Amino acid sequence: MTVRAGREFLAIPGPTTMPDEVLQAMHRPALDIYSREMIELSNGLHADLSKLFATKNKSYIHIANGHGAWEAAISNVLSRGDKILVLESGRFAVGWGIAAELMGVEVEVLKGDWRRAVRPAEVEERLRRDKAHTIKAILVAQVDTASGVWNDIEAIGKAIKASGHPALYMVDTVASLGCMPFEMDAWGVDVAMSGSQKGLMTPPGLGFVAASDRAREVHKKANLRTPYWDWTEREGTEHYRRYAGTAPVHLLFALRKAIDMLFAEGLENTFERHRLLGEAVRRAVMRWSEGQVLSINIAEASERSNTVTTVMTNGYDPVPLHRYCKEKCGVVLGVGIGELHGQAFRIAHMGHVNAPMILGTLAVIEVALNALQIPHGKGGTEAAIEWLGESVSA
Ligand SMILES: *Cc1c(COP(=O)(O)O)cnc(C)c1O
Repeated sequence: MTVRAGREFLAIPGPTTMPDEVLQAMHRPALDIYSREMIELSNGLHADLSKLFATKNKSYIHIANGHGAWEAAISNVLSRGDKILVLESGRFAVGWGIAAELMGVEVEVLKGDWRRAVRPAEVEERLRRDKAHTIKAILVAQVDTASGVWNDIEAIGKAIKASGHPALYMVDTVASLGCMPFEMDAWGVDVAMSGSQKGLMTPPGLGFVAASDRAREVHKKANLRTPYWDWTEREGTEHYRRYAGTAPVHLLFALRKAIDMLFAEGLENTFERHRLLGEAVRRAVMRWSEGQVLSINIAEASERSNTVTTVMTNGYDPVPLHRYCKEKCGVVLGVGIGELHGQAFRIAHMGHVNAPMILGTLAVIEVALNALQIPHGKGGTEAAIEWLGESVSA
């Protein structure tokens, strides 16, 4: 017996649930890529991406996933043999660093911990020791989707500034842009990158990069540049050069609709919605944790992301839980990845999420905990309901 008829619900951190409006926006013929309509669509999206990154500077749209946008960021500002500092707090900044290493960059990882955020003071201390300024860039993820951590990008930016070090500050916002506040210019970020398929509710396949004036200055001398990613190549007079060839027309239709929906909601409300629903998830998991098996991976409450929660299963195999949620109830949870493989599950709460989706997901997990007799504190979903009732005013 199952109770999973109908639409399967993806509670994984990307690709996320796409609104019907976004899906429908693609159900139309392509445009002539040289037409005025196409250029207007494209110009509008580039400008709106800069708004999302909160920068007065240019954004670039690449036909790529997040890994491609990583490579775009690296290749435009670094040269063979340059050294970079990667701030560890999970898997993703380290993965970005591995890509840089494979491209010929020397990588130093500032050792962190999968259970906590990057400590700005440790960044400052390391940069102060680099008196010769051999470090050319600092890489960090705002949200690490594996550990569930929320790094304080503003505080790290201040620490970099306090150290007086000139390295470029490069931030991965794949799991946070359009869900949690990000202020590229105000926080002193030089290169920010993101992708379409998480908070931005669009199919996978678009990668976004924004660059500060300082980054564009360094870009002039970077020797890892290649034609497909090159910012200068993308500024040619013919519009199609922005995509280094045919524009991904349908993905742009989808992105247009998704950004329209975000702006119609109002980013302030979007961020608050993510905070409230993220806290609802955390309240539920904390209640379940009273059974001495489950726990939230990130130790400090203020360092937990509003877009994804990584739940440790402390000795219990998470596979039957996954299987039950998916096969019996039609809810797909994220698996533990990297160091947490086989030891955790992840609940995504990013992008097109609302109260019924999150409460439904939590309730299904609770059904599974009961059915599989995994010890847990009772009333997790109830705790989420109480939180929303208290915090969403009538
Ligand atoms: C998903 C993700 C990526 C990688 O994106 P892909 O589109 O899968 O290549 C990079 N960084 C973070 C923080 C992510 O969550």
